[in-house]
Amino acid sequence: MTYTNAHRLFVQASMSERFFTEAKAIDMYTKACSANNGSCFSQEFDLPAPEEFQEFISTINQKLNLVDMEFRRSHDEDDGNPVWALVNTNGDEIAKLATEYSPAEISYFKRLIELIVTADDDAFSASSIMALKEASKIKTQLSKSAAEILLQRFVDDKWLVQSQSGKYSMSQRTILELQAYLKDEFEEYLIECTLCYDIVTKGQRCDVLECKSRFHHHCARRFFSSQNEKVCPACKIAWKSSNIVGEPLRISEGSSRRNKRAIPEDDDDDLYQ
Ligand SMILES: [Zn+2]
Ligand SMILES: [Zn+2]
Repeated sequence: MTYTNAHRLFVQASMSERFFTEAKAIDMYTKACSANNGSCFSQEFDLPAPEEFQEFISTINQKLNLVDMEFRRSHDEDDGNPVWALVNTNGDEIAKLATEYSPAEISYFKRLIELIVTADDDAFSASSIMALKEASKIKTQLSKSAAEILLQRFVDDKWLVQSQSGKYSMSQRTILELQAYLKDEFEEYLIECTLCYDIVTKGQRCDVLECKSRFHHHCARRFFSSQNEKVCPACKIAWKSSNIVGEPLRISEGSSRRNKRAIPEDDDDDLYQ
């Protein structure tokens, strides 16, 4: 596919947010195509076919790769819905925060990430008390009220999420955009989902301590729906969905089913990766 005005429009529209749901991405794609008076997809359907959208994104990525960037796809750990982020591929992603935050604010953010990733028992979260205490340990200390405001900014800017119990954890944006940084700094603390190989900070784990099986909630749902028995694929012990990694889900399971998705969740992974 040649790079057209539609691709350019899509990139421009995504620049302001950089992180969005796939539903939003497809909406932006549809608008970019119609603004370019033409169809980038066959008009028989209201929505583009997955392979047309995939081709559109890979055409953009070929251009973005020249400047060490690309659109990358993952799934929201809470609802399992596909999400996209515009990411740096040169490993220095955390530098990107410099346009939004001061050096002191970035050091605080890094400390928070460390606190979250290295939390005991695969909790992948930090209480607000712990988070605020961390503000006094950085070189340019932040007052408690400055730290409170900053924590809220990290949440508003979608770098952190705060659970109902007040705990902070990494957002899907952080996991996607800062992935190379996280892997460089905290390799031994990160866990991969045994089913999709993405980082898991919210999911389920095998009951057997020595067993390495860890699943995202949405990966577990999909996997067990095609199995006769709910047992760990590695050690064959009964699988308990209540045995969790990280913070509990923010939304109840199944509520995402109400959203009409453009692309069926079950068979999309191979198409988009
Ligand atoms: Zn997974
Ligand atoms: Zn197991």
